Amino acid sequence: MMNESHAEAGAERGPGDFIRDIVAEDLAAGRHQRIVTRFPPEPNGYLHIGHAKSICLNFGIAREFGGVCHLRMDDTNPTKEDVEYVESIQADVDWLIAGWADHVLGYKRKGDTSGRVVLKQTAAEPQTLEPFYASDYFQQLYEYALILIQKGLAYVCDLTPEEVDAYRGAPDRPGRESPYRNRSVEENLDLFQRMKAGEFPDGSRTLRAKIDMSSPNIWLRDPVLYRIRHAEHHHTGDQWCIYPMYDYAHCLSDSIEGVTHSICTLEFEVHRPLYDWILEHLPVPQPRPKQYEFARLNLSYTVMSKRKLLLLVRDRLVQGWDDPRLPTLAGLRRRGITPAAIRSFCQMIGVTKYNGLTDVAVLEHAIREDLNRVALRRLGVLRPLKVVLTNYPAGQTELVEAVNNPEDPAAGTRQVPFSRELYIEQDDFMENPPPKYYRLQPGGEVRLKYAYIIKCEEVIKDAQGRVVELRCTADLGSKAGGPTAGRKVKAAIHWVSAPHAVPAEMRLYDRLFTVPEPDAAEGDFKQYLNPDSLQVVQAQLEPSLAEAKPEERYQLERLAYFCLDPDSAPGRLVFNRIITLKDTWSKELKKNAR
Ligand code: ATP
Ligand code: MG
Repeated sequence: MMNESHAEAGAERGPGDFIRDIVAEDLAAGRHQRIVTRFPPEPNGYLHIGHAKSICLNFGIAREFGGVCHLRMDDTNPTKEDVEYVESIQADVDWLIAGWADHVLGYKRKGDTSGRVVLKQTAAEPQTLEPFYASDYFQQLYEYALILIQKGLAYVCDLTPEEVDAYRGAPDRPGRESPYRNRSVEENLDLFQRMKAGEFPDGSRTLRAKIDMSSPNIWLRDPVLYRIRHAEHHHTGDQWCIYPMYDYAHCLSDSIEGVTHSICTLEFEVHRPLYDWILEHLPVPQPRPKQYEFARLNLSYTVMSKRKLLLLVRDRLVQGWDDPRLPTLAGLRRRGITPAAIRSFCQMIGVTKYNGLTDVAVLEHAIREDLNRVALRRLGVLRPLKVVLTNYPAGQTELVEAVNNPEDPAAGTRQVPFSRELYIEQDDFMENPPPKYYRLQPGGEVRLKYAYIIKCEEVIKDAQGRVVELRCTADLGSKAGGPTAGRKVKAAIHWVSAPHAVPAEMRLYDRLFTVPEPDAAEGDFKQYLNPDSLQVVQAQLEPSLAEAKPEERYQLERLAYFCLDPDSAPGRLVFNRIITLKDTWSKELKKNAR
C-alpha cells in the first residue's frame, strides 16, 4: 500500500538498511496489509538523541512504506514515572517529526483501551486523541495471565526477590526450581487473584512463567511476569497494585495494537525467545508481531542513560532537562538545533547490528550543514573593542548593504548602519602581533566587511594598561563602488556601529564532558564534566537583531551560529550559541599532538 507520503519520503530517505529490507520483503510477500511500528519510551525521563535514532527509524519506516507508527508510553513501573515525562515525550516526538505526523503518527481515542489506531486528520480535535499507553492494557494482560495459569504455564512464587536471583543460576550454571513451582492451577488462580485484590505486601509474591530453569538463556528461567507494587500510577491511579514486567507487557502490547515490526535495541536480542514464547502460548491474533534488533546510538563526549541525565538535573549540575548542553531533545531544541539536522544526522549514521561509539563531530557536522543552509547572516561582536574613525564625520550615519545568506539568494540583503564609532572583536586587534597576523595592528590596515578599509593610528589604554580604544582613519574611497574599492588588504573583520548596536547576553556552550567516553572512564562520570561548558559574555549586535525571532537561526559572521533563548524578554536579549563555525576541538587535538 503506497500513498503520497511514500513518494515524498524519498527526499529524506537514506540508503536502505537490513530492517527496511525485511519490511520491504514482508510487504512484497503479502505478509501484512499495512506496516505498523511503534516507539515505546518509558516515561521516566526526557527523550535524548539516542531516542531520536529510534524515532527516525520507526516513524521513518511507517512513512516510507505507507504504514503507521504508534507512540506508546511503556508505563509499567509506577514509581519512576510521571506525567511531566509523558508530556515532554509527546512534545519532543511531535517536534522531531513535525510535517510527517499527519501521515504516520497513530493515536488512540481517549478512554479507548483496545489498541485501535486513529489517524489524525487535520480537522480532528486533538483533545479527543492521545498516544497509546501500555497501562491501558492492564486488564487484558491480567486476563492473559489467568490463561497462562490455567494452562499450567505460570505460577505464584513466594521467593523473595533476592532468592529468585539466587535460584536463577548463571549462564554457565543451571538454576534451581522454586519450591512453589508445582502449585496447583486452583491455588495459583486463587493466589494471583488475591495479589490483584491487594491482600499481600510489596515483594512478597510474584507471578512467574513456568519455562525452563536450565535453559542456556537466563531469560527463559521462569521469568517474573508480575510483581506487587502498592503505588499510585500516573495513568491508572490506584486501580492496580500488581504491575506486569517489561517482557510480559511489551510483546502483548505490540500484539494488542497490531504492531507488525517491533524494533528495539540489541540488548533485547536475548529477550526475543521470551517475547515469542509468551505470544505462542496465548490466543493472540495472527500474524504475531516480530521483534528485530539494531545497535543503539552511543555518542562521544556525553552521557545518554536516563539515570545519569536525571542525576545531572537533580544535582543541579545542569539547569534542567532542557539545558542546551544536554543531549536531550528538549536541550537540543533550546540550543537551536533544528529537527532537520537531527534527522539528517540519524540518516548519516544509518542502522546496523554493531555497537560502537559515534563521534559527536558527526552530529556537529550535520548541524553545521543544516545551519549553513538556513541561517541568516548578521554582524555582532562578542567581546567589544571600541574603534573611533577620526576622519569620519561625527553624527553621520550611512547604511551599508549586507548579504543575508550567500547560500540562499532569495534571502536578499539588508541595510546595516555605519558611523564614526564602532566596535570590533578584541581578538581582531593585537598590539604586538606575531608574524602572519593579518588583522588590525598599530599602523596596519584591515577591511571592515561591507564597508571601508581602516588603518590603526593610535592605541588608547586605561590606567591598568589595557587597550580600551583604537583611533583609526578610514579610506573613504574604499567601499564597494568607490575609487579605491579594489585595493587589497589581507583581512576583513566584522564590526557594529556603537551608537546603533543592541546589547545582548550570549551563552557560549561547549561540550559537557572533557573525555570522549565519560561512561567508560574510571570513577564517577561527574568528575569529567567540562568546567568551561558554559561561558556568558555581553555582546553588541547589529540593530536588526533587536527583532530576532525564536524560530530563526543566525550566523554571526566569522563567529558562530546563534538563536534566541526563551529567557529573552522585551529589552533583554539572550542568545544561545548553537555551534561554532569550525570544529575547535579537532584543532585543539592537533595542537596537543604536535
Ligand atoms: P535509558 O537506558 O537511557 O534509560 P531506555 O532504553 O530505557 O533508555 P526507553 O524509554 O525504554 O529508554 O527507550 C524507548 C525506545 O528508545 C526503546 O525502543 C529503546 O530501544 C530506544 N532507545 C533508547 N536509547 C537508545 C539509543 N541510545 N539508541 C537507539 N535507540 C534507543
Ligand atoms: Mg527502557
